[in-house]
Amino acid sequence: MQTETTTMKEITQEKWAKRPLIISGPCSAETEEQVIATAQRLANTGKIDMLRAGIWKPRTKPGLFEGIGAKGLPWLQQAKKITGLPTTVEVATAKQVEDALTFDVDVLWIGARTTVNPFSVQEVADALRGVDVPVLIKNPINPDLELWSGAVERIARAGIKQIGLIHRGFSSYGNTEYRNAPMWHLAIEMKRRNPDMPIINDPSHICGRRDILLDVAQKAIDLDFDGLMIESHIDPDNAWSDAKQQVTPERLAEMLSTIIWRKEDNNSEEFHAALEKLRQQINHLDDELMQILSQRMKIAEKIGEYKKNNSITILQTNRWNSILERAFAKGDKIGLSKEFITKYFDAVHMESINHQNKIMNS
Ligand code: PEP
Ligand code: MN
Repeated sequence: MQTETTTMKEITQEKWAKRPLIISGPCSAETEEQVIATAQRLANTGKIDMLRAGIWKPRTKPGLFEGIGAKGLPWLQQAKKITGLPTTVEVATAKQVEDALTFDVDVLWIGARTTVNPFSVQEVADALRGVDVPVLIKNPINPDLELWSGAVERIARAGIKQIGLIHRGFSSYGNTEYRNAPMWHLAIEMKRRNPDMPIINDPSHICGRRDILLDVAQKAIDLDFDGLMIESHIDPDNAWSDAKQQVTPERLAEMLSTIIWRKEDNNSEEFHAALEKLRQQINHLDDELMQILSQRMKIAEKIGEYKKNNSITILQTNRWNSILERAFAKGDKIGLSKEFITKYFDAVHMESINHQNKIMNS
């Protein structure tokens, strides 16, 4: 006779292998009613594979809602019973692993603030020894691929066979368009290093706001990500955490039907599909280059201000020569020709002078 848990294990296996794998649910479990209603409405869309909810919430500052704690676990168990959806929860300590497993959470995930800390990742890994549960590992909050890889290694060494990655963007100082900059090239490199590991994109924590979720989700699908984790809430504006980035289950379903799901390469289209993927990667990198250039111009403007206040000329030949020398040496090491570096820096420098000029003559 099959027990209920083996059945759930099989469903989880099936979902884990499904493409795209769609995970959704609230940032935080708040009340039993909220968890169950969100789960039911998500299940009704027929587009969701797994239910997420934060039970323990690592918050940047004290005094914010830090999660309902273990008392929310039976709510998730109940939501699973009603909808048949496997559940996933963030864990950061051995005790949280133990509690989550006691309440039959089907997939565990390690959050960005935990991946940065080898002590915590090791504690979670040790608690997972001998346990057969899939684990998703979010990228660390800082753009450090070695930390992300290190976390994967620690969990793998504990004997976990099913490991997946979640790309949730990287924090940076100052305001950008994103809450956490996607830095797609890092996710692409992680994917290259771990070709057999599913990689899921989390547009919610990258965007920090609703209006650009779809755009980021589409980019991820274009880059051949294996799925999406998107936060949803029955009353997004009044969510106890991450209110600005959550959407209702129905809005999520709408978004999912708007996304253009790229087909697997088939024989006749193989060449075109591969080309398209490469072009998408080029587009994303170009977008990032432009973002970075715009940041560079903002710094140039600050310098312009400083020079203005101190009556210093814009062009300082020594500084310009040293920039070029440095760039030639670096370019040589990474395969960029002197000719290209010269043209590129000339253009950047001219643009920078124009920005400074505007400031100095304002
Ligand atoms: C979350 O998923 O709600 C969360 C806390 O995410 P992250 O670890 O990416 O910040
Ligand atoms: Mn969140």
